[in-house]
Amino acid sequence: MVYKIAWIKGDGIGPEISDAALHVIEALESKYNLNFNIVFYEAGDYCLSKIGIALPSETIEGFRSADAAIKGPVGETSMDVTVKLRQLFDLYANIRPIKNFPTIECIRNIDVVIVRENSEDLYKGLEFEFDNMAIALRVISDYATRRIARVAGEIANKRSGLVTIIHKSNVLRKTCGLFSKVAKEELSKYHVKVNEMYVDAASALLIRSPERFDVILTTNMFGDILSDEAAQIAGSLGIGPSANLGEEKALFEPIHGAAPDIAGKNIANPYAMILSFKMLMEWLGERKNDQRLKEAASTLESSVVNALKMGYKTPDIGGNKKTNEIGCFLYKLIKNL
Ligand code: ATP
Repeated sequence: MVYKIAWIKGDGIGPEISDAALHVIEALESKYNLNFNIVFYEAGDYCLSKIGIALPSETIEGFRSADAAIKGPVGETSMDVTVKLRQLFDLYANIRPIKNFPTIECIRNIDVVIVRENSEDLYKGLEFEFDNMAIALRVISDYATRRIARVAGEIANKRSGLVTIIHKSNVLRKTCGLFSKVAKEELSKYHVKVNEMYVDAASALLIRSPERFDVILTTNMFGDILSDEAAQIAGSLGIGPSANLGEEKALFEPIHGAAPDIAGKNIANPYAMILSFKMLMEWLGERKNDQRLKEAASTLESSVVNALKMGYKTPDIGGNKKTNEIGCFLYKLIKNL
């Protein structure tokens, strides 16, 4: 079975981390007899400057016809590419697992999954200028809250069974009030323990005692901020993968941005991109009931752990390896298994 994978390399460090991941995928294909038809599509700042549009229709159609999609980060056009793709394909659940990896110096031990509502909140893009004012509309609906709460409930059932709903309902009484009420209603249908916390208190507690959290259920903007914080607690933004899931489609991407400060230097950490592909294989393996994909995903994660233990680390996590060296090393590790 050939799986079509739509791949957007993106801007900044996107091409470098994509190339490292692609090298590793070659090894997985031969090891597990997998056949990925990886098709590259353009999107992002560079695409905008080259052809005048950040998300061309060929990219949208490529995504539509693919079995799964993965993208590197895009720069200033994130709203026109990442948020647009999430909206176009109703990728309503943003799943961000964040945990420690061996040998990576961290602020604290952490093992959480952030379940971020991905379709509304301030990311609806409803911004207006009026009479020397700028206004943004925050949309939180019963429908979207209920479906994301169900995702959190299901994930928590497979983990420790604790969900912390994070919001700010003492100030945002209507929007966060609805999120809190509806999320609790929906989660009461699951055998999970539910806590709730204001976002400011939660961001402090996440640094002080991350072990108090397991599954975090939150709104779009709070989830964006808290996941960068959580990734940094684990050691670096460069190791956090993510999935944008809908009912039919899925898009995987590292949680970090295009990191223009280090682009082109071959020092970007490719692990978040590589682990995003691991999440893609898990998702596709489940959907297609393909055990080889699940095994390849598990091998990929254990190979990342082994590579880290053998010192294959970029500067952001205390090493001196180059981005492409990590790709080459993982390729050899997997080939020689
Ligand atoms: P966005 O808003 O698109 O998420 P951002 O402006 O928040 O982007 P990033 O591009 O994620 O920021 O970068 C923040 C910092 O983290 C930068 O100093 C960057 O060098 C570092 N960083 C991000 N990703 C990586 C990576 N993969 N490897 C090494 N350092 C990274």
